[in-house]
Amino acid sequence: MNSSYIPLYQWIDGEKLSGDGRATSDILNPFDGSVLGTMAHATAADLQAALESSQRAFQQWRKAPAWERSEIILKAAALIKERIEQFVPILTLEVGKPLAEAQMEMNLTVQSMVWAGEEAKRIYGRTVESRLPNGRAIIAREPVGPVAAFAPWNVPALLTGRKIAAALAAGCSMIIKPSEETPATCLMIAEAFADAGLPAGVLNVVLGDPAMISTTLISSPIIRKVSFTGPEPIGKQLAALAAQNVTPVTMELGGHAPVIVCDDADIETAVALSVPNKYFAAGASCIGPTRFYVQDAVYDAFVEKFTAAAGKIKVGSGFDPETNMGPLANARRLHAMERLIGDAVANGGEITTGGKRIGDAGFLFEPTVLVDVPETAKIMNDEPFGPVAILSRFSTIEEAIEKANRLPYGLASYAFTASLSRANQLADSLESGMVGINTYYFGMPEAPFGGVKQSGYGSENGTEGIDAFLVTKFANFG
Ligand code: NAD
Repeated sequence: MNSSYIPLYQWIDGEKLSGDGRATSDILNPFDGSVLGTMAHATAADLQAALESSQRAFQQWRKAPAWERSEIILKAAALIKERIEQFVPILTLEVGKPLAEAQMEMNLTVQSMVWAGEEAKRIYGRTVESRLPNGRAIIAREPVGPVAAFAPWNVPALLTGRKIAAALAAGCSMIIKPSEETPATCLMIAEAFADAGLPAGVLNVVLGDPAMISTTLISSPIIRKVSFTGPEPIGKQLAALAAQNVTPVTMELGGHAPVIVCDDADIETAVALSVPNKYFAAGASCIGPTRFYVQDAVYDAFVEKFTAAAGKIKVGSGFDPETNMGPLANARRLHAMERLIGDAVANGGEITTGGKRIGDAGFLFEPTVLVDVPETAKIMNDEPFGPVAILSRFSTIEEAIEKANRLPYGLASYAFTASLSRANQLADSLESGMVGINTYYFGMPEAPFGGVKQSGYGSENGTEGIDAFLVTKFANFG
């Protein structure tokens, strides 16, 4: 497997642009802190060119028959599948994730693209009975227009691929900015689209300073939709900016997922599912389980089994097949872990395993379990987005639901129980866009993925994910 990095460039109107005095920044390998490559930043002129190209291409792409759009998206997905061996090591280099996790992300990326490609053929309007003699009343679904999209670093192929495929399926053009820390797989996805026959300008990729790019794109009247995945404070800023032009937004923001483990649950299974899901992506998953509320009768057993399983996780290079968890993706997460765990311990929390950085090169951190942390500690309120599980006890289901719903977030929540009536009660009462009962599995492109409360609004995936890029027109014929 080739594990060398790729050249980075702006991809605007089918042209690869780099150099020419553009400002640059380095892409770091989170495993050892070494420099993987250098990225040239988009200039104001680049962004203007991307906007104009996106507007021109939209006029062409919106008229392309749905079957043609579908065919190009499906062909791009097929090319990515063929090239998976090239994508996987790039993900491991940039994000540090183990090869098996990178492979899983690529499989999901392809599946999401296939789903969106198929859905392009299933965008339906309707007719209603006209009130006018010999009239016709048509309700049509049309692409919203050029989209500005912003994706984060934790799942950089999936979160760019599924935005692109859904927007293109709907007939929109898109300018996408991947994370400035993980730009490579987005460029490789764009290349697959070009090779599949996507006309120049339908997809432009811009790299560089996030604030400068988002402000320029979202302020432009050319942009008719914003799709953002990333931190909640940034999402709020971008939504406010979009509101200036009354531009609709889809926001996939943070979470602080609660897990309620009832005393009738199968504890072995709950631990066996919880530990790998907790430490997946080194904990940097917005749907990753974080606050575990465990009922009194099974609390001690759960803590003991969870701690033992977390302590066995092998942390290291994503390229080592023995590695279960790679490094944190950047220095910010390392500092956040140290700050949040330090505060939890200062407030009476106890570490049952982990708690420290590993070595001093790169961003490796021990899988960590905390118990007895008061609800007022920072880590019970701020999303840790790292490899730390917080285990607390509860007595009644009502108490657990109240604790789970206490935060302003509502992306994912989970519960383990053998009782159907408790399962129903929990599924109905947990305030989140997604609820997993006896499972953490949400990797289904056919089902919507999105949050409520301050975790965002709108969904990706499912028919809702295509709907996000459509507007409705009522055409009344007299
Ligand atoms: P951070 O505050 O350092 O933000 C960095 C991220 O936000 C980068 O992707 C960057 O490109 C983007 N960004 C920053 N300023 C921007 C701007 N003005 N315009 C556009 N984009 C901008 O946070 P971090 O440490 O990188 O990430 C941690 C947080 O990100 C977590 O709290 C997590 O909730 C959130 N996140 C959420 C999801 C999700 O799917 N909901 C995915 C990844 C990250």
